[in-house]
Amino acid sequence: MVIADNPFEDADKEEALLARVGATVRKFNCRNESEVLQAARDADVIMCDAAPITRNVISMAPRLVGIVEYGIGYDNIDVQAATAKGIVVCNIPDFMTSEVADHSVALVLALARKLYLVGRSSRAGEWNWRKFRPMSSLDGKIAGIVGFGSIGRQVAERLRVFRMQLLAYDPYVPRDSMERLGVKSATLDELLKASDVVSIHVPLTKETRGIIGPKQLALMKSSAILVNTSRGAVVDQNALFDFLRRGRIAAAGLDVLAKEPPDPLDPLLALENVIVTPHIAWYSEESTWKIKECAALEAERILTHQAPKHPVNPQVLAER
Ligand code: NAD
Repeated sequence: MVIADNPFEDADKEEALLARVGATVRKFNCRNESEVLQAARDADVIMCDAAPITRNVISMAPRLVGIVEYGIGYDNIDVQAATAKGIVVCNIPDFMTSEVADHSVALVLALARKLYLVGRSSRAGEWNWRKFRPMSSLDGKIAGIVGFGSIGRQVAERLRVFRMQLLAYDPYVPRDSMERLGVKSATLDELLKASDVVSIHVPLTKETRGIIGPKQLALMKSSAILVNTSRGAVVDQNALFDFLRRGRIAAAGLDVLAKEPPDPLDPLLALENVIVTPHIAWYSEESTWKIKECAALEAERILTHQAPKHPVNPQVLAER
């Protein structure tokens, strides 16, 4: 069992669980393909977070039977190459979604109420609400959810409590299942034009890379807030910087960036109307514990020839 990388300090839980089936766990902190190639040569199963599990890695690991992602998004894994070699790829879709929804809504509220600026000003001894004009109410405004899956739905539920009207764009979710939840289906253009808050919750795929570019940003209201907790590459970051700098959109809350960690001199980090958080939306003590356990149990199932719970390429199991 090779842990190519994980965001946690230790692998004690994984080691304890996998020891039951006689597996040895080797933990690395690979940052690029050549480090993964080096680390994963003898692996039966690879567990990973953001490390690139490329076609090369897959072809250079002759014993490999499974790859387990420590989370939901698996855009770092070449699933097509794995599938071609009969290697099962699994993710952990069901823990951390409420944390990500909370974090997305926290960003919406912090930006709408300008909390980051207001708090800083009070700390500096100022006491002046007028300095933060204009500030708009969320009550009755429109929130647009891009990607109406597990996290998108939970964000909608939370924003409804603030009495926002809800729109969603997701070509893979039937209109009536949105309407049952009180959410109106819209095209991406309709959603961007109408929304006061846009929150993004799509996986990073060929189709969603750059789905929010200059053309889409130009459709948004200049008073709108954009929140992205999905993947940085879904948004054209240079275009976003330009729109924020010119005040062509009001503010952005970003938990994910095109390059993580960013260059400390990245001008996006210095904008007053942006909150950047360090890919932390998934985190809570509870989610950490659960993710480690679920990933290790999934690896154990693969090693002991049981069906894994969350294969993203289940066709390889049917062929076994
Ligand atoms: P999910 O699979 O439940 O939902 C994703 C939704 O996006 C699906 O309904 C799908 O139909 C939709 N979608 C796919 N392609 C689309 C497109 N082209 N246009 C519009 N919608 C499209 O996933 P989820 O649990 O809601 O997670 C969403 C993403 O959030 C993950 O893929 C991951 O990248 C990201 N994430 C980030 C963090 C973090 O810490 N910041 C943590 C967990 C997940």
